[in-house]
Amino acid sequence: MKHIVIEKKEQCCACGACVSACARGAIQMKADEAGFMFPTVDEAQCVECGRCLDVCAFEQKGKGANGAPTVYAAVIRNKEVLAQSSSGGIFTALAEAVLEKGGTVFGAAWAEDFSLRHIAVQSEKDLCKLRGSKYVQSETGDTFRQVKELLKAGEYVCYSGTPCQIAGLKAYLGKEEEKLLTVDIICHGVPSLKMLHDDIDYVTGGNTAAVKDIRFRDKAYGWGVKGSLTTGEKKKKYHAGTSPYYFYFLKGEVYRASCYRCRFPAEGRQGDITLGDYWGIRGEVINKLNGAHPDRGISCVLVNNEKGKQWFENVQNGLVYTETTLAAVQKRNKQLVSASVPLPEHEALLGGYTKNGYAAFENGYKKHTKDHIVRGVKNMIPAGVKRKLNDLRR
Ligand SMILES: Cc1cc2nc3c(=O)[nH]c(=O)nc-3n(C[C@H](O)[C@H](O)[C@H](O)COP(=O)(O)OP(=O)(O)OC[C@H]3O[C@@H](n4cnc5c(N)ncnc54)[C@H](O)[C@@H]3O)c2cc1C
Ligand code: SF4
Ligand code: SF4
Ligand code: SF4
Repeated sequence: MKHIVIEKKEQCCACGACVSACARGAIQMKADEAGFMFPTVDEAQCVECGRCLDVCAFEQKGKGANGAPTVYAAVIRNKEVLAQSSSGGIFTALAEAVLEKGGTVFGAAWAEDFSLRHIAVQSEKDLCKLRGSKYVQSETGDTFRQVKELLKAGEYVCYSGTPCQIAGLKAYLGKEEEKLLTVDIICHGVPSLKMLHDDIDYVTGGNTAAVKDIRFRDKAYGWGVKGSLTTGEKKKKYHAGTSPYYFYFLKGEVYRASCYRCRFPAEGRQGDITLGDYWGIRGEVINKLNGAHPDRGISCVLVNNEKGKQWFENVQNGLVYTETTLAAVQKRNKQLVSASVPLPEHEALLGGYTKNGYAAFENGYKKHTKDHIVRGVKNMIPAGVKRKLNDLRR
């Protein structure tokens, strides 16, 4: 068989490069029982040209990976943009620089029905659609083809996304493009859109139509992993304490199979620049970031090659930044060291979800929450009282 066949789910990250590469339109992305997208080939349309196999970067660990990065801690000076960004707002600084050259910026944006898709943005006012981390898989759709067309027309392009999406784009393009800036994010994995939609249904008590906004990272609650969900005029907190989905996302239990053998975490990144949270920043590094405050968010920036260096120099005036080391960033960002490891619960949870739906998440979550509360209460009892209670039991 000379076309893509997904024998094991862990072999496909759903970058969509094969779909874009098929001139016959023979490949479609389809959801499995858990909502994860996989390519399927219409044999009647396929001419066995093998192009889809050539552009599949996941198993090849991505062609054209970069060398050792230069690493910075950085924050955008624009306070408004910083407040809307998940980390230090460096994505917007880079995106604005590309727009200033008349270019186009691609990134992940919510659609009206809260599905997540990569879209093209050509004006500063629309950049807000791309800002902020959305903790679910984004569909690349036909954006790889759009990138190719824009580059062919001599335009500047910035493409941002997960490392596997950047690897897919580069494999699809097949050659180094001078005017393309690729920005990958530090990534530990993505759940399916179906799971997120089930969660919205759970959290809103079925009132999904009223949802106006979802933020996984809302700086109104500081720099951390607390978000918000706005229904009508009401905004409420959305985090691991209110949402089974968010809880299992942070535990690393509900990612697609490819994420547990992700090829892209460590050195040899895919993007010209990599962005992430500088979790645990302290001491000398934070002291050198004049005026930056951990509560407002700080980025780690990995400048992975010469092109990345030029773009980072381009935006430096709008940033507060200082050089640091990869080792310092890796201390609290294990996603820069190795792929996520599924806990023993993972298989049962996914199996339960495909069989019984979201009840599997709810039940597991309620049990964890109950255990957590019981542990918390036990910890609050002074040691002397605990001893007396134990004596009484004997
Ligand atoms: C699924 C996911 C997991 C992450 N895990 C980590 C982690 O473990 N450690 C860490 O340090 N950082 C992680 N990040 C990255 C971090 O949250 C910020 O996105 C990053 O630091 C950039 O922040 P910013 O302030 O510069 O810009 P922001 O404006 O906050 O970032 C927006 C950028 O993120 C992209 N983006 C948002 N959601 C998605 C998505 N679902 N798929 C593809 N691209 C997306 C947008 O296209 C845009 O480029 C993760 C992000 C995502 C989406
Ligand atoms: S082998 Fe060629 S025609 Fe067949 S699915 Fe792949 S790209 Fe399309
Ligand atoms: S990893 Fe990308 S290119 Fe490879 S099969 Fe999956 S969607 Fe297609
Ligand atoms: S963990 Fe790896 S495979 Fe999964 S979405 Fe992130 S980059 Fe892609």
